[in-house]
Amino acid sequence: MSPKTVTFKIPGPREQLAALGLSEQEIKQCLELIKAKYGPPDQLTPGEYTIELPEEIPVYTFTNQAVITAIYRVAEEEGKEGWALLKQAGLTHLVQNRYKTYSGPPIDQLTGLTLQERHRLAELLGLTLPPIPEGVEIPPIIQVGPIPNCAPGREGNPIDFIVIHYTAGGSAKGTISWFKNPRARVSAHYLLARDGTIFQLVQDEDTAWHAGIPPRRGLSEEENLERDRRRKLIRPNERGIGIEIANWGPLRKSGEVFYTWLNKPFTGEAIKAGRRYWEAYTEAQYESLIKLVRYLCHKHSIPPAYPPEGPGTYHQEAEALAHFRGILGHCALDNTKLDPGKHFDWDRLMEGITA
Ligand SMILES: [Zn+2]
Repeated sequence: MSPKTVTFKIPGPREQLAALGLSEQEIKQCLELIKAKYGPPDQLTPGEYTIELPEEIPVYTFTNQAVITAIYRVAEEEGKEGWALLKQAGLTHLVQNRYKTYSGPPIDQLTGLTLQERHRLAELLGLTLPPIPEGVEIPPIIQVGPIPNCAPGREGNPIDFIVIHYTAGGSAKGTISWFKNPRARVSAHYLLARDGTIFQLVQDEDTAWHAGIPPRRGLSEEENLERDRRRKLIRPNERGIGIEIANWGPLRKSGEVFYTWLNKPFTGEAIKAGRRYWEAYTEAQYESLIKLVRYLCHKHSIPPAYPPEGPGTYHQEAEALAHFRGILGHCALDNTKLDPGKHFDWDRLMEGITA
């Protein structure tokens, strides 16, 4: 199945898909694809959306019940709850028509499931999917999207690099609800909780808003023009995958007590790096980050490489990053940012992903 990119407008996707000459069965499957990626079509805000249409939409011969049974089996094998996995796959509606032929999204596009889960599911249903690349562990990823703060597609740009951030915040749960708030206008593809849990909010093939180099108040007009030139040259959001790590960033020390930038006392582990104190990243976060970055590098053919001046150093020359492919920190892109901070262990990340 080679995918074909189709851009359609809301409202009226059904009419547009029909105009492409698709059959009623295929239109139904496309609408399922739209729903799986963005949510119910009738609830989407008007605008342009993009989906990858398989050139031939597979016509399955098994029933919805067969898919439900197979998903419950996958869940059981993983020690998970069947209904929870069905929900994660976006397929709970199958129970309404258990004995009808399955007409949901193609099994290999159930992005709520991990790649391994999709493969096991296909196997149980007697389908063949392309083999999982060997030697790359796929970490468990909990899908918590779709969210409003992102844009479909990448304006034709390739996925070239991975940007590491800290959230400068508390719990991952709090960050997720902020990213789900339309007023936030920010997001990232992935978020790592302090216990190492990996959440995905935006699909890799879509644009998250994590490194846009926007104009800043307090800067001169000239400086903001330079930021704009830089943004257009590097296109960080369109070319990057953003990973946020739950971490407060810099801490203020007063007597024996540390405070976050919100002036709340901080009780976790603090470390000194450079001139400041910071919240230490957890072991679980490093372990998950290494697995996630290694997997993403493999999946998108991103070389495990840092930019010439280092991953945590601001690159004055935007040109040096215009064609960069690899891994870097938000602070390398934007000189108003510190993340992931002086306390982030770049050597450990590189050793981990190349091991
Ligand atoms: Zn950042």
